Amino acid sequence: MTPPGFEPPTWQAREAAVLAPWAMPAADSAGRVHPEQPHLFRSPYQRDRDRIVHSAAFRRLAHKTQVFTGYHGDYHRSRLTHTLEVTNIARTLARALALNEDLVETLALAHDIGHPPLGHAGEDVLAELLRDDGGFNHNAQALRIMELLETRYPEFPGLNLSREVLDAQATRKKDGAAPAPLLETQVVDAADSIAYDTHDVDDAIELGLVSLDELLELPRAAFRPAAGGTRRLVTHAPDLAAAKRELERFLFEKVYRSERVLAIRVPAQRKLADLFGWYLAHPDELPPGFRERAKSCGIPRSTADYIAGMTDRFLEADHARRLS
Ligand code: MG
Repeated sequence: MTPPGFEPPTWQAREAAVLAPWAMPAADSAGRVHPEQPHLFRSPYQRDRDRIVHSAAFRRLAHKTQVFTGYHGDYHRSRLTHTLEVTNIARTLARALALNEDLVETLALAHDIGHPPLGHAGEDVLAELLRDDGGFNHNAQALRIMELLETRYPEFPGLNLSREVLDAQATRKKDGAAPAPLLETQVVDAADSIAYDTHDVDDAIELGLVSLDELLELPRAAFRPAAGGTRRLVTHAPDLAAAKRELERFLFEKVYRSERVLAIRVPAQRKLADLFGWYLAHPDELPPGFRERAKSCGIPRSTADYIAGMTDRFLEADHARRLS
């Protein structure tokens, strides 16, 4: 109930009041493949955000690896908490730059839904297994989830998201055919990078993989905000970018390729590959929806869709059930 005489602003009026000329207004959206009636209170991008949050792929991020698995304890980030940190940073950047915060929030929440179990380690295995069948990439898989694999409507597959959300995901595939990324997309990519660099340091310190003394030997620019004003293109200031590269080199060597991480990663990758091979040999054991889709996209792709949708713990349990 609103006070007498108070007219809450529509989402169109709110966007007109706060968005910069370089932002992407929802009112200018190219729309959806399947047209829908407008919502009274939510902009199209707010509806897209809700569809992402309500998707099975999003919920499963809670039990998917970012860098460290459950074997490392329960302090570190999962793919879901990484996503939430990216979203917070991206929204702050969007508000500071007067970009469309609703669109940025949607893109940030969706940016990792295509990740398979085991993070990039799982992605590497699937990419190798599908080398002769179109490959595998988590950004392309996110688009596949949005357009095909999530089934929320009886009339058509996919989430029926706004064109800008699908295009943003297409630009991440970096296949050359995608349109130039909106600033909202660039903000999310920058936030992703800021989030993983900083939280991987925090997780690595907690796990004892790196020490504060080692970190203090790195260029200090990595630990303070970028100087200077906003840019047309969203990027890091040159001195910060150089320090960031140095930090990422350090993390690669000391964390991502550390013995403790590899000791868990390598056997887990083997389980994923073995399970993939088992389903190729037993396609009738795929769930009905994946069996049906295999008729059009082939058994290897549909098997990859099924395995990529698994959480780390489901992969472990299914491997134990099928192969142990
Ligand atoms: Mg990410």
